[in-house]
Amino acid sequence: MVFLSISVYGYLAYLPVILVVYILSLTVGKGNVPYDLLDVPLMMIGSRLGKTLRIPYWGLGVDTDKCMGCKRCNKACSMSLDIMTMVQSGESQHHDCIQCGACVDVCPKNAIELKVQ
Ligand code: SF4
Ligand code: SF4
Repeated sequence: MVFLSISVYGYLAYLPVILVVYILSLTVGKGNVPYDLLDVPLMMIGSRLGKTLRIPYWGLGVDTDKCMGCKRCNKACSMSLDIMTMVQSGESQHHDCIQCGACVDVCPKNAIELKVQ
């Protein structure tokens, strides 16, 4: 399981998001906040802030040389991303990736990993 191989520091990256949602639920009320609309802007803000401040982030790492083109990662991706093409082109980030780790679990060549970068 991918969750066992992730450093505890990877989970720390989510603490600010959890804190914001928790404070909103206490102050505004659970029924008044469209939480599902909050995650995308929070992720975008977090991503840009992280890059500007050079803060380590949790994301996919890919190894182009290991990929054998089996497409198991594409079939496993719940967001229907063409992760195989991303791996083969050396691209590891996609704004629709929810970092569930399903592609990591099914890859027989360990060409994909979730890690703090
Ligand atoms: S599962 Fe792994 S080896 Fe297969 S296409 Fe995806 S990245 Fe390549
Ligand atoms: S981590 Fe999940 S959402 Fe992201 S590419 Fe892999 S399977 Fe798709």
